[in-house]
Amino acid sequence: MTGRTSGPREGFIVARSEHGETDLVVSILLEDGSVRRAMAKGARKSTRRFAAGLSAFVRYRVVFGRPPARQGANAFPRLDEATVVRAYAGVLDDLRRTSAAGFASVLSSDLAREVSHDAGLFALFVEHMGRIEHADGVACGGATVRFALRALEHAGFPIALDACVRCGKPAPDNALVHVRAAEGGIVCAKCSGTSGGGARSGEATLRAADRRALRRVQTDGADAAFEPWMLTWLVPIVGAHAPHAAANLTQCARHWAT
Ligand SMILES: [Zn+2]
Repeated sequence: MTGRTSGPREGFIVARSEHGETDLVVSILLEDGSVRRAMAKGARKSTRRFAAGLSAFVRYRVVFGRPPARQGANAFPRLDEATVVRAYAGVLDDLRRTSAAGFASVLSSDLAREVSHDAGLFALFVEHMGRIEHADGVACGGATVRFALRALEHAGFPIALDACVRCGKPAPDNALVHVRAAEGGIVCAKCSGTSGGGARSGEATLRAADRRALRRVQTDGADAAFEPWMLTWLVPIVGAHAPHAAANLTQCARHWAT
C-alpha cells in the first residue's frame, strides 16, 4: 500500500501512540475491514487538519497521503486529514460504555488484517458503537459479549455453543461443558477422551444454565440475559486469538464487577 495515495475513506482510530514532539501514529479501522497504520504529522499541535485530535470513538473521513520517498518502503503512509462523520459523545459519559468501545477497538486492532476485502468488521464496529452510545451497563455488557463472539467468528474463529464441534452431539441441557477456542466451541467429554485433564490456554468451562444465558445474549440479542461473569469467561476464549484484547477485557470486566 505504501507509496500510493487514496481518496477519502471512513474509519475509526483503534490505537494511537505519540511520536516525536507533535506527531501521532494511529491505527485506523477502515470501511474495507482493514486496519492501517499511519503517521499524523503535527496532530498533537493542531486540530485544524485533524478534527477532535484524532480521538477514539469518532467516525472519521480520512485522507491518506504519500509517505516521504526517502524513508523507503517501511515508512508509514501519511494521514493528511481527518474530519468528523459522527461523534459518539454518549460513549464518553459512562465508564462501561467507554470500556465497551475501548475493548472493541483493541479487538479490532488484534483481529484485522492489513489488507481486507470485506466490510464485515467495520460494520460490526459501527453497529456496536450505535448500540452502546446511550446504553445502560447491562446492555453495554451484552453488546460487548456479542461483539467479541461475532468479531471472532468474522475473523474465522467461530465459537459454537450448541453442540460438540467434533461429533456434532448436542450439548447437554443439564451438565457442564468444555469450550475450546482453538477448536471453535464445545468439545464433549467423549471426544475429549484422554486429552482431558488440566486447563489449557483458550479453554473454558460452562455450566448448563450459564450456557443457556450466553446463548441468549449471543444468538437472540437478549441484553437482559447478560451477566458480568460472561466478560471474565470470555477472556481465555478471546485470548486464544487476540492477546491484547484479552488483557483489555480483563480490565474491562472490573467495571461490571462492582
Ligand atoms: Zn463430541
